[in-house]
Amino acid sequence: MLFSYHNHSTYSDGNSNIDDIIKEAINLNLDEVGISDHFHIPKKNGYVFQSDMEINKLDRYVKDVLKYKNLKKPKVKLGLEVEYVKETLEEFKAIIKKYPFDYLIASIHLVNKIIVVDENSYKPKNFTTDIMIEYWIKIKELAKSKAFDIIGHIDLYKKHGHKPQVELDNYIEDALNAIKDAGMSVEVNTSGFFFPCKEQYPSIEILKKIKEKDISVLINADAHHPSNLIREFKKARQILKKIGFEKLAKYNKRKKRLVSF
Ligand SMILES: [Zn+2]
Ligand SMILES: [Zn+2]
Repeated sequence: MLFSYHNHSTYSDGNSNIDDIIKEAINLNLDEVGISDHFHIPKKNGYVFQSDMEINKLDRYVKDVLKYKNLKKPKVKLGLEVEYVKETLEEFKAIIKKYPFDYLIASIHLVNKIIVVDENSYKPKNFTTDIMIEYWIKIKELAKSKAFDIIGHIDLYKKHGHKPQVELDNYIEDALNAIKDAGMSVEVNTSGFFFPCKEQYPSIEILKKIKEKDISVLINADAHHPSNLIREFKKARQILKKIGFEKLAKYNKRKKRLVSF
């Protein structure tokens, strides 16, 4: 079973349109492919990512993905990668209810006005452990909201090679317990291999904790170009098998099913 759910089109910061992503998924003989463009309802005076999909484009986005609903292979899934914002969560839930989403990926790119992935938004020396702690607290909070299905790139702050200066174990433990309690899955995001951290999100250490807690996982590419739809999936599968995972989580209309891989 080969599927890839975390992929971006020109509706947010991807390089190609939905049609080209589907075309490449057919070429690659995928069983399922999902589109999950960035969606973010900022809080009042909050930071706005210019590349995120605007609310008024959501209708057209959904229509463009659902155009493929009768395609037999790959099955095309309707998703979103959502920036978790506590202050606008209720507004988000009200909007989302109107559409037949297959899954919602929740991610955190912003912590205390710092863009976690953008070194220009902070002086590297100031990228302190405080931000990493705050990051895990937000992950716990988003899991507790029970409004999402999948956590995106769970230890994203390591992207540019930053390492925590203090033990984060307790924060990670609390966040994973909330994820388990919410029945959410954690994605193994292979895009990390292509950045200075040179490994998947999450780390092997965190993946072992995820296995211990019997939290479900799936493999995603976070592709911004169709050629990346399944990059390093083989490597990710090997890593998961070595840790002892036997199943991956797939989604249909926000219902989870575990399948062998
Ligand atoms: Zn992301
Ligand atoms: Zn993404």
